[in-house]
Amino acid sequence: MRYAMAIDTKRCVGCADCVVACQTENNVPEGYCRDWIVEETIGAFPELQLEIRSERCNHCADSPCVRCCPTGASHYEEGGVVLVNHDECIGCKACIASCPYDARFVHPEGYVDKCTFCIHRVREGKNPACVDVCPTHAMIFGDVDDRNSDISKALRTRKYKTLIPEAGTEPHVFYLL
Ligand code: SF4
Ligand code: SF4
Ligand code: SF4
Repeated sequence: MRYAMAIDTKRCVGCADCVVACQTENNVPEGYCRDWIVEETIGAFPELQLEIRSERCNHCADSPCVRCCPTGASHYEEGGVVLVNHDECIGCKACIASCPYDARFVHPEGYVDKCTFCIHRVREGKNPACVDVCPTHAMIFGDVDDRNSDISKALRTRKYKTLIPEAGTEPHVFYLL
């Protein structure tokens, strides 16, 4: 089993419902976020296009944040989900410095926080909160090891990219093009 997310750049309208849903679901303190919207102009004139992306931790398979954590607080859970054990985190910020995606922040309570792929919901058979609320159904969450999952089908039939692949972290958030 390997959990991943596919986000359709053709469907995302940048409404930020995913950001609000995440803040509510995960009690993200005001002024912080586990996911965010990026608008980027891509292509060359006159073929310019606006790409809108909902971004978050990429739950990398070769995560520098896990490798550099001195206490083991940053670790892999089932399905390759990267989590931070709050009790073991000493707030040294080594992981923040190592993440190419700027996906982590120091929670006001002193530990480092980030997207969890809503593993607490996934364990109950639900989708992550951001996936559930998306009004355009731009996000698919699932098991890429299951050939019959919606995400596997999307990755077989659509072109896609990952962000900053040259960082070599094997990100598992895929952007459908
Ligand atoms: Fe770690 Fe950053 Fe990759 Fe998330 S995106 S697993 S925080 S390196
Ligand atoms: Fe590990 Fe916490 Fe230090 Fe990050 S801040 S490397 S999670 S102890
Ligand atoms: Fe937030 Fe959960 Fe979506 Fe991650 S998967 S961005 S924690 S709502």
